[in-house]
Amino acid sequence: MGNIVAIVGRPNVGKSTLFNRLTQTRQAIVDDEAGTTRDRNYGKVEWTGKKFSLIDTGGWVVNSDDIFEEEINKQVHIAIEEADVILFVVDVLNGITDLDTQVAQILRRSKKPLVLVANKADNFDLHYSAAEFYAFGLGDPFCVSAINGSGSGDLLDAIIAKFKEEKEEEVLEELPRIAVIGRPNAGKSSLINAFIGEDRHIVTDIAGTTRDSIFTKYNKFGLNFYLVDTAGIRKKGKVNEDLEYYSVIRSIKAIENSDVCILMLDATRGIESQDLNIFSLVQKNSKGLVVCVNKWDLVEDKSQKAIDTYLQAIRNRLAPFTDFPILFISAQTKQRILKVLETAKEVYDNRHTRISTAKLNELMLPLIENYPPPAWKGKYIKIKYVTQLPNVHTPSFVFFANLPQWVKEPYKRFLENKIRENFNFTGTPINIFIREK
Ligand code: GDP
Ligand code: GDP
Repeated sequence: MGNIVAIVGRPNVGKSTLFNRLTQTRQAIVDDEAGTTRDRNYGKVEWTGKKFSLIDTGGWVVNSDDIFEEEINKQVHIAIEEADVILFVVDVLNGITDLDTQVAQILRRSKKPLVLVANKADNFDLHYSAAEFYAFGLGDPFCVSAINGSGSGDLLDAIIAKFKEEKEEEVLEELPRIAVIGRPNAGKSSLINAFIGEDRHIVTDIAGTTRDSIFTKYNKFGLNFYLVDTAGIRKKGKVNEDLEYYSVIRSIKAIENSDVCILMLDATRGIESQDLNIFSLVQKNSKGLVVCVNKWDLVEDKSQKAIDTYLQAIRNRLAPFTDFPILFISAQTKQRILKVLETAKEVYDNRHTRISTAKLNELMLPLIENYPPPAWKGKYIKIKYVTQLPNVHTPSFVFFANLPQWVKEPYKRFLENKIRENFNFTGTPINIFIREK
């Protein structure tokens, strides 16, 4: 399961610089492929073959000189509750401040796996100053310079060493893992209640499932599926529901562990940045998607024209990925609830669709012949053959070409569109790779 590492600390110690440093290389690659925008506060890190999510919780805190204490305390508590490892960042140039001491106290009591990061140790003399941080009682400070990159390898080693042993992975059946996501008040809990009705506690005992499992198995309307982290979603009002980073951190956890995400939008409000952020988390993690426009009961004009306008608006905001189902539902009146589950199952199946190589070539090669990649400096680019990769989570197609590096994004999009037109991959991202034959 994906580990989540949260960066905490007072403002100006270098949290966001460190975030950028640690996510740098991988982020560049991932973003390039997915064509998504770079996220300031959330990224993926890969180090010695291990992947984890890094979250700069401080990125959501407004930097102003007063009020902080409370903000920072909340941020730290949320990190303790939700993250697997905490990076507590302090600043060797400034030394210990009251706020640092306070944060250290909270962290010490929590017993959460933690790495103490002494940032701005730009040169060796500054490493000696870091000794003062032993006073926190939080173990050895790790000296790094987020600006020049020194110490980041050792830091990454230390972070990975804190991850829990990969204990026997939960034994899960091959069933759709569905996450219901969306901003606060979109209607997530209502939808889940509509799904599972009154017997919301019918947690099936699955062999090997740990008590704190985030998967709950259900059988409803003749479908078997897991809901991801429903307890967490229904555990309302506990802490700081209103804080965006709280809902984001929860979403990340749910999304990473799902196959298909049901993104809840509120029909009575437009699509706002928080919706887009959550959508981009789904994209970044290459998950299946069903969009539900909830609270449809509150909308007066339900004419086809109004519906078309909605559909267009949503697809415009979420472009370039637009091949996903959009349902108009009411969690409260249970309108089209069954359809939501059926659609999620369909998207799950689409993610597992495997097209035979013969069929793919039969269809794609003539299309390519009619509309070949543009020549480059007088050289013709020929695509000879295409095949779908077996055993990968996201449907992935490899096209073999003589000059793969000159097949550019627009042409890849053309190939993707043709595949989508001819086969049903609705709701799932697909990858297009061009390789040398
Ligand atoms: P945040 O508020 O904790 O996210 O801190 P920032 O990452 O925004 O950094 C605050 C300031 O510290 C910026 O001016 C950074 O350039 C500077 N800074 C960050 N890391 C380092 C470092 O390793 N060495 C030095 N000398 N300055 C740093
Ligand atoms: P969550 O924060 O995303 O879990 O949202 P909730 O499920 O708690 O719903 C937030 C509010 O919207 C509650 O007052 C619900 O009763 C209301 N709500 C949820 N779904 C619907 C719906 O389909 N129609 C109407 N009219 N209200 C809804």
